[in-house]
Amino acid sequence: MDIQLTINDMPLTVPEGMSILDAARTINIDIPTLCYLNLHEMNMNNHIASCRVCVVEVEGRRNLAPACSTPAAAGMIVRTDTPRAIQARRTMVELLLSDHPKACLTCAKNLDCDLQALAADLGVRHINYEGEISEFEIDTSSLAIIREPSKCIRCRRCETMCDDVQTVGVYSAVGRGFGTVIKTAFDRPLHETSCTFCGQCIAVCPTGALMELDQTDKVRKALNDPSQFVVVQTAPAVRVALGEGFGLEPGTIVTGKMVAALRRLGFDRVFDTDFGADVTIMEEATELVHRIKHGGRLPMLTSCCPAWVKFFEHQFPDLLDVPSTCKSPHEMLGVLSKSYYAKASGIDPKKMIVVSVMPCVAKKYEAARPELAQGQETADVDIVITTRELARMIREAGIHFENLKDEEFDHSLGESTGAAVIFGATGGVLEAALRTAYEVLTGETLEKVEFEALRGMEGIKEAVIPIGERNLRVAVTHGLGNARKILEKIQAGESEYDVIEIMACPGGCIGGGGQPYHHGNVEILKARANAIYQEDRSKPLRKSHENPAVLALYKEFVGEPYGERAHELLHTSFMKREKL
Ligand code: SF4
Ligand code: SF4
Ligand code: SF4
Repeated sequence: MDIQLTINDMPLTVPEGMSILDAARTINIDIPTLCYLNLHEMNMNNHIASCRVCVVEVEGRRNLAPACSTPAAAGMIVRTDTPRAIQARRTMVELLLSDHPKACLTCAKNLDCDLQALAADLGVRHINYEGEISEFEIDTSSLAIIREPSKCIRCRRCETMCDDVQTVGVYSAVGRGFGTVIKTAFDRPLHETSCTFCGQCIAVCPTGALMELDQTDKVRKALNDPSQFVVVQTAPAVRVALGEGFGLEPGTIVTGKMVAALRRLGFDRVFDTDFGADVTIMEEATELVHRIKHGGRLPMLTSCCPAWVKFFEHQFPDLLDVPSTCKSPHEMLGVLSKSYYAKASGIDPKKMIVVSVMPCVAKKYEAARPELAQGQETADVDIVITTRELARMIREAGIHFENLKDEEFDHSLGESTGAAVIFGATGGVLEAALRTAYEVLTGETLEKVEFEALRGMEGIKEAVIPIGERNLRVAVTHGLGNARKILEKIQAGESEYDVIEIMACPGGCIGGGGQPYHHGNVEILKARANAIYQEDRSKPLRKSHENPAVLALYKEFVGEPYGERAHELLHTSFMKREKL
């Protein structure tokens, strides 16, 4: 039911139960907040009302009301901008700053910090409160995430994200009032928990308390070592978000500028992870066909998201035979760079460094997984940096990104199809696999390559896809909480699916923990997804098995898809892990 109210003298109609904060947004009034999260479409909300920054005046009420947790009601008269409300916000921010290190200039979140931005917007010029400053050790235990609890403002967004959305439950608030601290269980270092390194807590943290492990110095060192041949590859989701780091609109496609910038940074070769994605489809689709034809384990689950892989290893160790054994696309491209490409180019693979630019924090940890380098002399990928880290490197190098002319990826590990680029959005991996599996199973041409039912931001999408005489039952999920629901069904023997795509991050990799911050704005994720589909439509080839460079790779080097050599290079194994 809809209700009518007034905000700042403007009448509006909103659904009953909507918060005042969301109601105000419908008329383009932003009430500031540091704790509220609203990704309704993906059922990701935080209504803890811990920061008290969003207070407003409601006629007839003596006390200020927190706009995030107060539902809009019929006939309500709200003012968001009274001197009393603004002064209360300023006081809240001053109190937060009184127990916050004044290290903005050296903080990794400088100019991207919600607390800093709010202090500036509210005109906080000095802090009227002096008191005890909390001090904590920095947790550098993991290969992906740095925790700096002294910068924490106890907004509990990370806790909501990790508990309610991802259902991993790494953090909880301990203590009360000023003594509240966000901790892991038994205060364990992060690498000793069940953390999946999805980085979604980083994506929502308003301050620099949670950040990815910065590996840009390692990249610079490699680029300045003349004895090393440094290869870089970029994931599909990077090209539709990197522009945001230079003030471009979300969803601006900057593929050509990105390649040009990487060459100016000094990389010897610029390859496209999309090539690895096309190879992934060759392997994954063949594995699916193999399981279907030979009565193998179904459903088959995708395995290209390392956070999802770590999640099932901790949470569902009895289901290790369900996911596909395929490595993720950047790992495939890494191993092929150091074998196929190195051999063809006469480069010593031990002198080759592969750098992956990813939307993802978990891929930093994934690159160091020993299972992935099994039987090889070096790791597939040596260094992983995020989209945010690449944007910073480009700015540091003084490259005028916006003015760069488009350049193309290096051949042949730069050739790709539209099927590969859609890996970046939720549903894309499955759609790409279906484009190939359909033709392999039926021997017929798939005319309509777009599977609309698998697209969009809904948490769990299901479809029945007729393929020849078989109706393939498929599902797509994003967010680990949704994945848990599906895995519980499989565990209980209630799953009727044949194949399921699972991605840890909201929206898939476009919403990855290493992407430019979306500040909870789902429209940014949608713009990136639309750009991904636009890039797909612009490609002359849209099915992985039609990529001539991929076909040459199999003919000259790998042999049969899902064959012996393919298993050595392109597949991996999983391990049981404790639930901590
Ligand atoms: S990285 Fe993901 S799993 Fe780990 S603490 Fe953050 S939200 Fe939880
Ligand atoms: S770590 Fe960040 S998201 Fe978590 S409570 Fe602290 S400030 Fe909020
Ligand atoms: S969904 Fe993508 S960005 Fe997120 S953890 Fe998985 S692979 Fe990384």
